[in-house]
Parts: sequence; structure tokens; C-alpha cells
Amino acid sequence: MNQVKKIYKMGDVDVKALDGISFKIKKGEFVIIMGPSGSGKSTTLHIMGCLDKPTSGNVYIDGVDVSKLNDKSLAKIRGEKIGFVFQQFNLLPRLTALENVELPMMYKGVPLKKRRKRAKELLELVGLGDRINHKPTQLSGGQMQRVAIARALANEPSYILADEPTGNLDSKSGEDILEIFKRLNKDGMTVVIVTHDPELELLGNHVIFLRDGKIQEERYL
Ligand code: ATP
Ligand code: MG
Repeated sequence: MNQVKKIYKMGDVDVKALDGISFKIKKGEFVIIMGPSGSGKSTTLHIMGCLDKPTSGNVYIDGVDVSKLNDKSLAKIRGEKIGFVFQQFNLLPRLTALENVELPMMYKGVPLKKRRKRAKELLELVGLGDRINHKPTQLSGGQMQRVAIARALANEPSYILADEPTGNLDSKSGEDILEIFKRLNKDGMTVVIVTHDPELELLGNHVIFLRDGKIQEERYL
């Protein structure tokens, strides 16, 4: 992204969340975005993931400038290229693990038999092959996050973006989740994780430190 600014309008008040940030992410990288609360991490991730648009500046995804696309085109790119994992899991409570993972494929029009098979495979991949018929309330936090990761992978995205994916988990479950991201990255997936936990810095090979909506430091490990 290039010189990205984001200003949230709150009635008469402007809240400057991003103040001209520029960085590049290469395919296959494991990127960690760090910084204190309010520094603009989630805003950055939302803009990268086509969940939101910058106020100014450009955002390129595989060479396409998405910064000025309308909501429909943005949603299309998001569906094709981005898998998003949220701190609060964002699973649908009435659906089973299997159905939650199937959902993005259903929206895309993948036939039932095919999407059910793939959803099962993805749940096995995240170690939940024996929990496919559980609903979110019947799962632990770590298990819910694993369902969310399986769901994010459903439509074979090029990028997995995760906002504080271990923020609601105990340390053991958090480590298990990070192991899954590491494995995905080893298999070629580009992974971007937002965290305020300094311990996670060493996980990435590209670390971006934000402060007050600016890049304070960028490091390649
Ligand atoms: P945290 O670690 O607490 O999640 P963050 O680094 O993710 O923080 P952001 O959520 O990106 O921070 O917010 C950056 C700034 O923009 C903050 O000052 C926040 O109050 C403001 N902000 C974020 N979202 C909105 C919104 N929808 N409307 C108005 N202001 C917002
Ligand atoms: Mg945040």
C-alpha cells in the first residue's frame, strides 16, 4: 500500500487512524503487524483485506488498485483472495462447525457434495475432524478459532489476514493456533497477523511496527 491515510468521520470530529503508511508484502511472507492499542493495526488490516477503503492513497492487491473500487467489486476481491480471521471468531452460532466452514463456499455456488467434502478436509487440517457437528457454544475458544481458520481457507485465498487471533485464548490454545498459521505459511500461504504481543515478533519474517497511524519501524528477519 502506498501513502494510505484513513480518517474516520465522527460527526464534526475527524479521527485520524492512519497517517500515510506505505509498505509492500511479498507472496509467501509471514508478516506481523505490531503496535500499541489505537495505533491503527486493525484499520490497516481491514483496508488490506478489502473490508474498508482508505480515505486517500492506494492499495494494490496482485497489481490491482482496490482503493477506489465500489463495495461490490471490493467484496468480489475479498471473496476470491482474502481469508479473514477475527479475534472474536465471528462464527454463526446456529450453524455447526461443518456448516460454518461450508458457508463461504455456499455463497460462491460450490455444490453441496463438493463443499461438504472440502469443509471436512479443512476441519481435519486444523485438527477438528472429530468436532464437525459441534455448534460454536459446544466448542472451546481454541476450537472455535480453528473453525474460523478453516472457514477462512474455504475459498482458497491467496492471503490469510488475522486480527489478534490469539487475543481471546489461553496461552496453550494460542500456541496451537500460531502453529497452524506457521504450517500454512510453510506450505506457501501469505500470512499477516496483527498483534500487540511483543512475544510474537519473532514469528514473522517481516515485522511492521505502527505508532499513531504511522510506520515507526519495519524489519525483515
Ligand atoms: P487495538 O490494539 O486496541 O485493537 P488498533 O491498533 O487495532 O488498536 P484501530 O482499531 O486501527 O487500532 O484504531 C485506530 C484509531 O482509529 C483509534 O484511535 C480508534 O479509536 C479509531 N477508530 C477505529 N475504528 C473507528 C471507527 N469505525 N470510527 C471511528 N474511529 C475509529
Ligand atoms: Mg485492533
